[in-house]
Amino acid sequence: MRYVMICASPDCEFSKTNNYELGVDQFCPACGHDFLWKCPHCGRPLRDKGALFCSGCGKPLKDKKCEDGHGDSATG
Ligand SMILES: [Zn+2]
Ligand SMILES: [Zn+2]
Repeated sequence: MRYVMICASPDCEFSKTNNYELGVDQFCPACGHDFLWKCPHCGRPLRDKGALFCSGCGKPLKDKKCEDGHGDSATG
């Protein structure tokens, strides 16, 4: 059975289709962030590569960037 995986990082647009028979990938090979394979809000399996919003509930799939200073000294 085929399913779509999308990188959960807001900075990464990597997505791909995968087969259950080949095993479930947990992390993005492009950046090492967690993969999403279903909507974190309603649990609907992802169907579109590159989707940014859930087609079931309309909420954004990716986490927003954390804008609160968290102790890490960011360069930029
Ligand atoms: Zn990624
Ligand atoms: Zn949803």
